[in-house]
Amino acid sequence: MSKAVYPGSFDPISYGHIDLAERGLKIFDELTVAVARNVSKTTLFSADERVEMVREVLEGVPGVTVDSYTGMTVDYVRSVGANVILRGIRTISDFEYEFQMALTNRHFADDMETIFMMTSNEYSFLSSHFIKEAVALGGDVSAFVPLLVEEHLKKKLTKRSR
Ligand code: ADP
Repeated sequence: MSKAVYPGSFDPISYGHIDLAERGLKIFDELTVAVARNVSKTTLFSADERVEMVREVLEGVPGVTVDSYTGMTVDYVRSVGANVILRGIRTISDFEYEFQMALTNRHFADDMETIFMMTSNEYSFLSSHFIKEAVALGGDVSAFVPLLVEEHLKKKLTKRSR
């Protein structure tokens, strides 16, 4: 059984993330979508909220396990018995960031590989960052995130702006 871990901040999960997970499942038998609890960037949603949304969207999809972790990604990946990290690439700037991260991870775990998948055309411009901005400005993001995520976004960003 091949197994990979798809780690990220998922703040919040979008159709871009979902598409990547679905395509990852065509290559790996098992995919653990792992929400990083301690991320360097400031998140809109708490770790528990981010995990809950990923669960609501992806739990039950055959082959998918949803989990969260603290500490180093490579340690977590090893703890679940995997040696592949799945990540997505959208742009050149993603490439630079991902390249550095993959090499740093390799320094700590040279038995582990990071596998990159290119985004699908229709989601190539999608980022959690701009989805949040759009909602804050009153934009319709129904093409970018599942309905329940859109509702969480509206609740959070409307409350904040009061
Ligand atoms: P992180 O903070 O770890 O970068 P993200 O949730 O922003 O977490 O992203 C997790 C992974 O998903 C990254 O590899 C990112 O490039 C990828 N990703 C995010 N959005 C998309 C998208 N629209 N298409 C493909 N990959 C994406």
